[in-house]
Amino acid sequence: MVQEMASDWQSPQNLELPKEELRSLLLEAQGFSKKINTLSEISLKIDDTVSRDEILEILRTEIGKLIDGEFCSLNLLNASRSHFTINALTQMGAAMNFNHQVFNANAGMTGWAIQNQTSIFVDIAMCPSFNASIEGNLREKGIKSLLLTPLRTSSDVVGALCFGSTLPDAFHTPDKWLVQLLGFHIASALRRVAMFDNAQKRLTQIELVNNIAGKLTSTLDLEKLLISAAELIQKNFNYFDVTIFSVDKEAQEVVLVAHSGSYVDFLPHGYRQKLGQGLVGWVGQYGEKVTANDVSTNPRYLAVAYHNTNSELAIPIKVGSEVVGVLNVEDTKLYAFDETDVLVLDTLSDQLGTAIHNATLYNEVKETNKKLLELDKLKSDFVGIVSHDFRTPLSSVMLAAKSLLKKEPIASDRHFREYLNIIVDQAAKLSQLAEDTLTITKVESGQLSYYFKLVNVETLVKEAISMVKFSGKHKLDYDIELDASFVKGDQSKLRQALQNLVSNAVKYSPKGGKVDVSVVNYSDDEILFSVCDEGIGIPSEQRDKLFQKFSRVESAEVNNIKGSGLGLWICREIIKAHGGRIWVESEPGLGSKFKFTLKKGN
Ligand code: ADP
Repeated sequence: MVQEMASDWQSPQNLELPKEELRSLLLEAQGFSKKINTLSEISLKIDDTVSRDEILEILRTEIGKLIDGEFCSLNLLNASRSHFTINALTQMGAAMNFNHQVFNANAGMTGWAIQNQTSIFVDIAMCPSFNASIEGNLREKGIKSLLLTPLRTSSDVVGALCFGSTLPDAFHTPDKWLVQLLGFHIASALRRVAMFDNAQKRLTQIELVNNIAGKLTSTLDLEKLLISAAELIQKNFNYFDVTIFSVDKEAQEVVLVAHSGSYVDFLPHGYRQKLGQGLVGWVGQYGEKVTANDVSTNPRYLAVAYHNTNSELAIPIKVGSEVVGVLNVEDTKLYAFDETDVLVLDTLSDQLGTAIHNATLYNEVKETNKKLLELDKLKSDFVGIVSHDFRTPLSSVMLAAKSLLKKEPIASDRHFREYLNIIVDQAAKLSQLAEDTLTITKVESGQLSYYFKLVNVETLVKEAISMVKFSGKHKLDYDIELDASFVKGDQSKLRQALQNLVSNAVKYSPKGGKVDVSVVNYSDDEILFSVCDEGIGIPSEQRDKLFQKFSRVESAEVNNIKGSGLGLWICREIIKAHGGRIWVESEPGLGSKFKFTLKKGN
């Protein structure tokens, strides 16, 4: 290059030249040095920029001061170096239809300069690489000569700078040097801002991905989740159109389930496409992503009448290895998606897969739970109805048997009496079982209502005792402290609980003994009830489970005593509803003490 310069531009000192010529050379040298100053001014301004648009703006206002010519454009390659976009820097260029258009990387003279990495003067009539849409258009506007220089950094070519003039042979070697120097400067600045942009974009994208991922994992409603995913992706990344399809394996179709962006009015929710058909259908079937940065060259692209899509990126959404959907992004720009977009959307579709998996699991659990609750309610209703309907006929049976027991000659017949007593006894047990079952059903379905009032403890104890059948083997006693005379509670429920404890005390003391009911002042606001017996007692390892439903002590002794294991559970529920506690203390073989607390009534 230096040699070339020496032959074209020789120093005037070495030459014997006529005065006129010397003067014009000096003027030319002065002009050149002025342009060098302009160049360094432009370079300084470019050094201060942080964006590509700023560089373009500086060139649009300053480039005319550097090189004469009606046309100038900065033709920039894309990141993958496959295409370049023309950016006009002068008025003439701005009005031409190739401005902002994308061309193949080897198109026209720009392509030539890029491929050969060389500056070139061109007579437009004799281009080595003529392109009708570029050079052809320039020629129509009267451009006769061109000067092109590749934009080179030390390692790379990022585009070309193109100048055009309506004068033939308008550009010369000094222009080429200036343009080359400027080109080098622009290329370095572009690389710098691209790196900055890239870092910035990545940072923003990482933030957005995090943000979106957080939002996706926080919702378990599948439909809402997909709709908000499409919206978040489209709005945050400013994509033209984002759709999410689910895969319907049975129908062998993909179904549109969420949509956000410019095509929303055209593609309705529920729109279906065959698996394998179009880009989305293909991705749905084969589970591999497709980046089509120029859909016209992709044979799988399914053109839709209203679409002006030029780029499409379709990514499978997987749960494990199964393709459950497709995340599809479209854009009207050519080459809209770079590596970062692919990476970001890949990550998001992964997140979507996980979120869909969670939501599906949640829905399944919710559905099962709903069914279980329905079944449970049906069971409760059934048990409730049955046990309720048992009690009326049982009462009639008991009543009839009791009346017969009083009638002659049945009353004096030993056999009749014995049989009728068995009928009364068994009917009473069945009736108690029905009563307990009904109480359980009511407790579990939340239908057991309590009517709290001030309850006289002595009345309560007497009522409960009066309802228990004692045999001659048992001796009953009760004792109520003076300052434990009133409690707050539901009288009939408390009577039921106390009656159950007293009846157990009798039942589980088959050899007889003392049954003591005592009520004492327990604390500032509590009263303690105790029901003590001298019966069979309860082994310590079995005490904890006794308050559970259907739980009985496992022993031969207890097996001989009839029971359902429901009474203590009901007692605990009643005491709990009164804000009290119930527990048992026992010595196997010596007896048991069932104790519970209630709130004082004064
Ligand atoms: P049921 O008496 O109908 O079996 P409960 O729920 O009233 O049901 O009692 C559960 C179990 O606790 C009884 O089966 C029995 O094993 C034990 N139990 C209850 N009260 C006593 C008691 N006073 N002495 C010994 N064991 C008792």
